[in-house]
Amino acid sequence: MNFVSINSGWIEVIAGSMFSGKSEELIRRLRRAEIARMRVQVFKPLIDKRYDDNHIVSHSELKMKSDPIEKAEEILEKLDPRTEVVGIDEAQFFDTSLVAICNRLADMGKRVIVAGLDKDYTGQPFEPMPQLLAIAEYITKPLAICVICGNPANFTQRTIESEDRVLVGASGFYEARCRKHFDPKPAVPSKK
Ligand code: ADP
Repeated sequence: MNFVSINSGWIEVIAGSMFSGKSEELIRRLRRAEIARMRVQVFKPLIDKRYDDNHIVSHSELKMKSDPIEKAEEILEKLDPRTEVVGIDEAQFFDTSLVAICNRLADMGKRVIVAGLDKDYTGQPFEPMPQLLAIAEYITKPLAICVICGNPANFTQRTIESEDRVLVGASGFYEARCRKHFDPKPAVPSKK
């Protein structure tokens, strides 16, 4: 996909299950923007401490410096007016105020690239991702690989017992599953 600057801002959303490559794709786009000598700022919610507080990190260990924030409003507070590209990872951990903030940034002429889980572990849409998908100019939906059968996987299977919607972790707590092998209710580890 080519993004053509028309002297105006826009919103790109990268949405999908865990392990689908959202963070990799976000980092790839942000790196290319830096190579093009654009001013980039990256934010992530403080809740996501899985590998590193000051970086966004992919499961394949790509990383990029980022500002950890508690609330979406801090994006506007910390925004350098010279910034041209704003990256946001793990957007599902922010509340719906992120939607208006992304709109505002795009209206200011910024390129906004947001990555996040589109569904929670029960398969339900994970706010504010549905709203962001609705207002985005560009949407990318990567798929992971189902750990049971190897088909494309659109779901995140929780493999330990917990009913908390937010349980931050990586491969130990979650697996990528296809529609056939996703079980939204119990915690079902695969027999590998
Ligand atoms: P996301 O941000 O969507 O959770 P990441 O960008 O952090 O995804 O990680 C994607 C990487 O995860 C892949 O390139 C691959 O190295 C690794 N990976 C581990 N398990 C899987 C899986 N089941 N399907 C696809 N990639 C996987």
